[in-house]
Amino acid sequence: MSTAIPDAPSHFIKDIINEDMKSNKHKGRVHTRFPPEPNGYLHIGHAKSICLNFGIALEYGGKCNLRFDDTNPSKEEVEYVDSIMDTVRWLGFDWEDRLFYASDYFEQLYQYAEHLIKTGNAFVCHLSADEIREYRGTLTTPGRGSPYRNRSADENLDFLRRMRAGEFPDGHCVLRAKIDMASGNINMRDPVIYRILHMPHHRTGDAWCLYPMYDYAHPISDAIEGITHSLCTLEFEDHRPFYDWVLDRLPVPCHPRQIEFARLNVNYTIMSKRKLLQLVQDHLVSGWDDPRMPTLAGMRRRGLTPEAIRDFCDRIGVAKVNSTVDVALLEHCQREDLNKRAPRVMAVLHPLRVVLENYPEGQVEWFDAINNPEDPDAGTRRIPLTRELYIEQDDFREEPPPKFYRLAPGREMRLKHAYIIKCTNVVKNDRGEIVEVRCTYDPGSRGESGRSVKVTAHWVSAAHAFDAEVRLYNHLFTKENPAEEDDFRASINPDSLQVLTGCKVESCLASAAPGSRYQFMRQGYFCADLMDAAPGKPVFNRIVSLRDEWAKIAKKMTIA
Ligand code: ATP
Ligand code: MG
Repeated sequence: MSTAIPDAPSHFIKDIINEDMKSNKHKGRVHTRFPPEPNGYLHIGHAKSICLNFGIALEYGGKCNLRFDDTNPSKEEVEYVDSIMDTVRWLGFDWEDRLFYASDYFEQLYQYAEHLIKTGNAFVCHLSADEIREYRGTLTTPGRGSPYRNRSADENLDFLRRMRAGEFPDGHCVLRAKIDMASGNINMRDPVIYRILHMPHHRTGDAWCLYPMYDYAHPISDAIEGITHSLCTLEFEDHRPFYDWVLDRLPVPCHPRQIEFARLNVNYTIMSKRKLLQLVQDHLVSGWDDPRMPTLAGMRRRGLTPEAIRDFCDRIGVAKVNSTVDVALLEHCQREDLNKRAPRVMAVLHPLRVVLENYPEGQVEWFDAINNPEDPDAGTRRIPLTRELYIEQDDFREEPPPKFYRLAPGREMRLKHAYIIKCTNVVKNDRGEIVEVRCTYDPGSRGESGRSVKVTAHWVSAAHAFDAEVRLYNHLFTKENPAEEDDFRASINPDSLQVLTGCKVESCLASAAPGSRYQFMRQGYFCADLMDAAPGKPVFNRIVSLRDEWAKIAKKMTIA
């Protein structure tokens, strides 16, 4: 696998690793992990974390584990586990034989909890959730110690064992770390590390009714796996003292270093699994893999490539300050990728019939068309011309406005790869709408070398064209930062999906394999839908249009 970027730029995390390599801190080892919670599908924010963790392992000749942080049975499902594995593989990364689940460590985590009790570092607390909150204090006032804080180790052990044995109902009591109720860091004020939940777990079934909290399970899972650098997002910065506290008090095999980096945010979308789940549940999208979703499953279905997503993650860099990235950059990366490898074909999305009056009926002429001028190996194909064809409605105006250089009565336009045509007349229906444009063609203008006109248009022969459905997408939200709105669902873009039927495409697209990608000349990059396209029933999603907004932004900011 060659997903490592040879001259990938450095960043503060690599600087730290370089230092550790120099000082031989981990005996030259680099071991990272990607730790998703299986409570939703992965989104483009996760791609940043995946590329970072797996990318660093590749770059330093180290390893990266895939670990499911499945400590909360109430929100987790096997469907999510499967989709996460599928997506990480699709992005181009390989955890080899290192697939782990935090739930694999439940017994060890429990034994460590007993150890914390025995060493006077944890206690069973019978305060209610509300009382715990109240005792905790605020950012400006210290908390108060729980009345159960100074129980004997034996009493605590007895309670913990009875919790495990299922003697108590949910919420009856919790296990808390005994740290410092006056700490300036609220996370250190005797945080809860175990709660009672009589709920089956997707892997351990009914074995447990006691589940560890994420903040407790995470550092220990890292240590058990021999992780050297535990990379997480900035919101965990305040949790790092607890991460270290746990590892300092347990006989764990090693003490990984937690390093925080900025979350990726992208404009015109949302990045929280909880909110994405709401969109799915409220049927505001067709599912987690709706092509408008910021999920990787959605992007994959839309037709984005793993190469473009990795390139994007590389370009946004890794920093310590949260920021929002323009979605135009992702689209730019996608165009650059497909420009090199997507065959260029002709598809008319809003067809207008053209009749070439001086073209013999029944005649078919074949023209050689280059599949991709950017790719010499892509070869050529043959495209047919007949007396009747389709052009794009937008390529014709009966009364052309200023600066309209396409076809109009008395004016000429070139058909890509073929002849120059000239409009002689229009045919209208009863309602006065144009249904057909009559033209003549210039037999001496064959090929692109002859005389030149301002516009070259795409077209398809009516006799050979295939009907296709084409889906055009827009931002899912009208607001740049929908998460800021009172109800993010209110800013859903009503025009985010446009379905066009009766589009006319070249016959080579009739049986386009699901997932195959093309440039439709002048229209953008398209992908045959993974679910709905079938032989003889072409359905295409527009991945991106050809208009490069990022180039404009970059020019303004004078960055490349
Ligand atoms: P969400 O807030 O969307 O529900 P999460 O952080 O709860 O996401 P996890 O499954 O816990 O989701 O995330 C797995 C890993 O991916 C974590 O290490 C997390 O820090 C990282 N991650 C999640 N969202 C982003 C993001 N927007 N940018 C970068 N990394 C992210
Ligand atoms: Mg999380």
